[in-house]
Amino acid sequence: MQNERIVGILLCAGSSQRMGFDKLMRPLAGKSAIERSMKALVDGGVTELIFVVSESTDRYVRALNCPVPSSVVGGGSTRSDSVRNALLSSDGDVAVIHDAARCLVSPDLVRSCIRSAAEFGSGVAAIPLTDTVFRKTDSCVSPVSREGLMRMQTPQAFHYESIRKAYAEQTVPATDDCSVFLQSGNTPCFVPGSEDNFKLTFPDDFTRAERRLLLYGTGFDTHRLVEKRKLILGGVEIPFDKGLLGHSDADALTHAVMDALLSAGGLPDIGHLFPDTDPEFEGADSIQLLKQVVSLLAAKKLHPRQISATIIAQRPKMAPYLPEMSRRLAEAAGIPPASVALGATTTEGMNDEGRGLCISVQAIASLC
Ligand code: MG
Repeated sequence: MQNERIVGILLCAGSSQRMGFDKLMRPLAGKSAIERSMKALVDGGVTELIFVVSESTDRYVRALNCPVPSSVVGGGSTRSDSVRNALLSSDGDVAVIHDAARCLVSPDLVRSCIRSAAEFGSGVAAIPLTDTVFRKTDSCVSPVSREGLMRMQTPQAFHYESIRKAYAEQTVPATDDCSVFLQSGNTPCFVPGSEDNFKLTFPDDFTRAERRLLLYGTGFDTHRLVEKRKLILGGVEIPFDKGLLGHSDADALTHAVMDALLSAGGLPDIGHLFPDTDPEFEGADSIQLLKQVVSLLAAKKLHPRQISATIIAQRPKMAPYLPEMSRRLAEAAGIPPASVALGATTTEGMNDEGRGLCISVQAIASLC
């Protein structure tokens, strides 16, 4: 396939009526569905890209940094019109048509479709139906044999001229490219699709995609327990005869949470961001620093989803203060208090925590 023109046609023109927001442009773990689909097509071997846009996605798509030569065409009133517009705007050896809403497509699947098209004239991602199927009409309900039934996905790749000709001859409405290819007298070749390659259609699909794309990070912090210091954890002052020693308010819980969030987002740790040699952070309220961390992540289109932490301390008893700590951390992170799970443990008198020399915290956080 060396020197062949593998033209990706990325459909970014669908409306998001069933979603209630623009599903194609909203970030999922930092990247929109359009960006994710674009990257998968390019990583899978597409050498140039045609974006098919709607009025709402036009400006967004034009501002993208596409790594291969690209062009933008307006969508038509139906999916078929959109694909036809794109096919007529260019030429090439293979056309790889893909719905941007299938943004978890893998580069491997794109590559398989392209190979099949280059060798056999077409490569259509499809998966066999495994659920029992019923047909319901006004008068009756009856089972349908699922033998031989398949669910069509995208990418769907074809010899460029064959699919362009098929669209030129199309007389019957179709919801995918394979149907149009078939109408024109061609026999499609199928490539095993993937259950992960689902289409963002309903709000639940967005949640499902977010779960697949969650980023995780861990954090750990420990501070020495000394006299004449306040004991502050999770932004809550706890009555005790000792407090944690540090340059800031030494809130080990909030520090561990910040490091967990930063590591999930691939950012430098708090030692880099808020060095203890900087007078600006002397006595700093760590909850305010957490808010800064959340802003830094938001600039990367990343948002906290879950935080969990364990406080390791022999004394004092933490349980009465955990709900208020969760509330304060949640407020600073911009998530519901139920998304912050805190626990506490002693070390049964062992180790420095057990001897009351320090308090340590382990944290884990997820972002999307
Ligand atoms: Mg610290």
